[in-house]
Amino acid sequence: MSRLRILTLFSLGFFGLLTAYLYNLRTAMAPNIRTEDVAKLGAIVVGSGLAGLSAASQLISHDIPVRLLERAAKPGGNSIKASSGINGAPTKYQSVVDDAFYADTVKSAGKAMSAMTAHREKLIGTLTNSSSAAISWLVDTKGIDLSKVAQLGGHTFPRTHRGAGQTPPGFSIVSTLLKSLKESPIFHLQTSCTVTKVLQADHRVTGVEYACDDGEKQELHGPVIFAAGGFGGDAEGLLAQYRPDLAGYPSTNDPRPGTQPLLTAVGAQLIDMDLVQVHPSGFVDPANPSSPLKFLAAEVLRGEGGLLLINGKRFINELETRENVTNAIVATAPTSQSPKQWTVQLVLDEGVYNAAKSHIDFYIFKGLMRKTTIADLGEDALESIQQYASAAAGKEADSFHRTAFAHWALTDPTPESVVYTGIVTPVVHFTMGGVVISDRAEVLNGDGEKIEGLWGAGEVTGGVHGGNRLGGSSLLECVVFGRTAGDQCAEYINNDSK
Ligand SMILES: Cc1cc2nc3c(=O)[nH]c(=O)nc-3n(C[C@H](O)[C@H](O)[C@H](O)COP(=O)(O)OP(=O)(O)OC[C@H]3O[C@@H](n4cnc5c(N)ncnc54)[C@H](O)[C@@H]3O)c2cc1C
Repeated sequence: MSRLRILTLFSLGFFGLLTAYLYNLRTAMAPNIRTEDVAKLGAIVVGSGLAGLSAASQLISHDIPVRLLERAAKPGGNSIKASSGINGAPTKYQSVVDDAFYADTVKSAGKAMSAMTAHREKLIGTLTNSSSAAISWLVDTKGIDLSKVAQLGGHTFPRTHRGAGQTPPGFSIVSTLLKSLKESPIFHLQTSCTVTKVLQADHRVTGVEYACDDGEKQELHGPVIFAAGGFGGDAEGLLAQYRPDLAGYPSTNDPRPGTQPLLTAVGAQLIDMDLVQVHPSGFVDPANPSSPLKFLAAEVLRGEGGLLLINGKRFINELETRENVTNAIVATAPTSQSPKQWTVQLVLDEGVYNAAKSHIDFYIFKGLMRKTTIADLGEDALESIQQYASAAAGKEADSFHRTAFAHWALTDPTPESVVYTGIVTPVVHFTMGGVVISDRAEVLNGDGEKIEGLWGAGEVTGGVHGGNRLGGSSLLECVVFGRTAGDQCAEYINNDSK
């Protein structure tokens, strides 16, 4: 009796054994599979960030076995670091009638909307119209606390959701989805395994080639959902290719090669690859100043009253947009070329500290900020802080036209005054560009046609955010398009099995 028949007989009674059969079939017997049978083997998901986990959760809900391949040793990608939250409107946590999410997203996308307008409008429509369902899926189906709502830059209303406790939203969402997936016998996660090629036959995607720690190339067969994240951490690769001016910049994203070339190799079309979001403040860790990976210095530090100094002098209204603050910094000479970074001093007083205590205590714990006195920052800094304090107290106009000083409390700074400080530098934060997808998360080729057997979701895709992603909309795109990809892939598999 052939191995295939033996395995088939065993699989009849037990679903778990069916899964094992599928895995065996995919790996050991893959060369004998006819392309029309590939879909019957379950789905392959590449990347264990929020997009991959959302897709996998949806597939499992349709009883489709999932093999998830993850390059890193630990799952979660950049998604697990997300700190502000996820957008949704309308939701039960909003106290206003929020009808502006679509319009805010189009506005933020800016000039990019003038090309492929109808396509972008459709994606943005899907993103924003599905946002309410995305939040209720996470809250009501998965039991994640997202009861706090904040208003971030570019949003007309508060719509960025996070939990009421101390756990950051990225961590609570990712860890909950992962835990629930691991309880399923038909979910199989392999970490430290990098997908190196997308396999294609008869114009449909039939699987992936991948290599794990031992470096041996293997193949896995089935339809593929690609959720491998952005290329913000690919400083010398895709970033240097599409944005030479940002080559060598550090990033808040894990350093790793971008994966879009694996998809263009099977015909995928790219969009907006030059549109990259740079954040003005990533911490330079004094213990490892040349690390290409930086910890984000949350916007709240400037918002609550913090000021920025270069060589002891202020240079901008700290409440300007991310782009304007970054431009002002990079107009000065960098202090390091590898990585390319600047030495910008972030200074807070006790008032700001008290307003953002949980953030600052964490940064102090990580060694990224320290408590000191103004004398430690030098004479120029003392003069700058005195002028800032005077403007904050309403005694004079601010030279940089800052009018809101939030919780800054120090009225008469002296060399002995206590301050909290850390060094920050601009960091690549998010890549808006990627592969073109349809509103059904199908990866599209250069003619705008879907590539059979291939879906994309999350930061690996492009076109949803145009020139500027709104804070909170990246986690949202992972959930919306990840779940859509899961549904579409399940339908493809079920149709093929009939
Ligand atoms: C510090 C920080 C804070 C943020 N805060 C927010 C926020 O509050 N709200 C918000 O909406 N967005 C936020 N973002 C952005 C958001 O977190 C990301 O854009 C989003 O999580 C991307 O999710 P993803 O699933 O597409 O990719 P990721 O989460 O990056 O996951 C991709 C995974 O694919 C794996 N992978 C890559 N290549 C391969 C390969 N060849 N083979 C196998 N696996 C591979 C990677 O190792 C990774 O684990 C933040 C980002 C950072 C860095």
